[in-house]
Amino acid sequence: MLTTHPFDDDKLREECGVFGVYNHGEAAAVAALGLHALQHRGQEAAGIVTFDGEHYHIQHAMGQVGDNFSSQSVIAKLRGHAGIGHVRYATSGDTVLRNVQPLFADFEFGGFALAHNGNLTNALMLRRQLVRRGCLFQSTTDTEVIVHLMATARSGSVIDRMVEALRQVEGAYSLIALAKDMVIGVRDPLGVRPLVLGKVGDSHVLCSETCALDIIGADFVRDVEPGEMIVLDSSGVHSLRPFLPQHRRFCIFEYIYFARPDSVMEGHSVYEARKRIGMELARESAVDADVIIPVPDSGVPAAIGYAAESGIPFELGIIRNHYVGRTFIEPTDQIRNLGVKLKHNANRLMIEDKRVVLVDDSIVRGTTSIKIIEMVRRAGAKEVHMRISSPPTSHACFYGVDTPKKEKLLAHKYSIDEMAKYIGADSLAFISIDGLYKAVKEPGRNNARPQYCDACFTGDYPIPLLDRDTPAGDGSEITYRAEARG
Ligand code: AMP
Repeated sequence: MLTTHPFDDDKLREECGVFGVYNHGEAAAVAALGLHALQHRGQEAAGIVTFDGEHYHIQHAMGQVGDNFSSQSVIAKLRGHAGIGHVRYATSGDTVLRNVQPLFADFEFGGFALAHNGNLTNALMLRRQLVRRGCLFQSTTDTEVIVHLMATARSGSVIDRMVEALRQVEGAYSLIALAKDMVIGVRDPLGVRPLVLGKVGDSHVLCSETCALDIIGADFVRDVEPGEMIVLDSSGVHSLRPFLPQHRRFCIFEYIYFARPDSVMEGHSVYEARKRIGMELARESAVDADVIIPVPDSGVPAAIGYAAESGIPFELGIIRNHYVGRTFIEPTDQIRNLGVKLKHNANRLMIEDKRVVLVDDSIVRGTTSIKIIEMVRRAGAKEVHMRISSPPTSHACFYGVDTPKKEKLLAHKYSIDEMAKYIGADSLAFISIDGLYKAVKEPGRNNARPQYCDACFTGDYPIPLLDRDTPAGDGSEITYRAEARG
């Protein structure tokens, strides 16, 4: 029996951002800036690995990028012209330094660093097999199976080993690796998580979102295609297609919440998409009201769209204290509740005696909505109507966005009417799935061939959930609780 349960509970679901730069005189500083722009994708830990032509330099830290990678002394130690970095958020107290990425390993070909955004859905299965073959895991991350699959691969080159490893994994991944004077970027065949290519001077950059290009003055070149591997080396940029083409299923939740609004994803401005979602929501679920108030910050663009379409004035009726981390990110329910109070305050004059429409991007456990509605009522609102710029979140994500287990999701437990009662709203409405697709410039959800991954709203999981669906006890001496990932 293994003493640790690496896939236990909510622990391993991660939200992450990745960054890589090749051929830059200040690779570490550039990586730190890029990670700073990606901080919204993960706030618990960060890491940078650089290569100076001979040696690798590694720095991992718990906490935010600005607190750990802004000093000259730290950056100066990370010498080299190539570097990759990672920001990470994992849901529990088990966030330990050994899980911080980029992971680093010594292969027979030399050093290898790997940063991953996404989640592998057969990591547990593979890990079990690898442990039986004698692999000694150093972390509890799903990402580490890729390193061991590469180490045990038949062929020699970095690229071949990586391809061989990735052909065995299932799941969502945008990866950036550093090896043998190359920076390598790969996106899973469905392209669930984002990855873009940029250019600054003679250097190329790979990163999760375009906002990380903007911060370093890099130009956007293009999205890395689903199933594409990009290699940056001294001879330029190379594109490989090691996987069979598949129907793309980009994560629609990136548009709703996860990405930064100033990023452009798959050809769409995230900000514009959010505004259009708000407009569509206003068309679908109009309400007679005096004021549209966003739940800051994530509800702001959708609320602007809702106000524009409905003609009802938009006001900042709730003010957010920016010096508190994202509510959702606090690990316990108790702290989460406290977090909401610390984070938001009612702007009374905008609320008193008014019929208020609150716009937020999603309801997960309902914690935020309950607190905000109570606060708005205490500030004297006559009516409080909640409008949500996503369909009800009824299923857990297994592809890299943190969600609690299905049983904790309000929309899994309750009907919309019951949810309205639970959060204390006079009315509650969510955008429809077709409305959401329209807002991201599709005619609607083509049920036979959906264009996005929307599993959190529909339960239609485009990548098999092998770990979740495989019974744990297989008679072997190593057991994991596979169920724990759900
Ligand atoms: P809850 O309070 O549990 O209902 O969570 C909903 C709030 O958390 C909304 O205000 C969202 O902006 C935010 N949120 C939704 N999904 C996530 C996520 N995956 N990570 C962090 N925050 C989230």
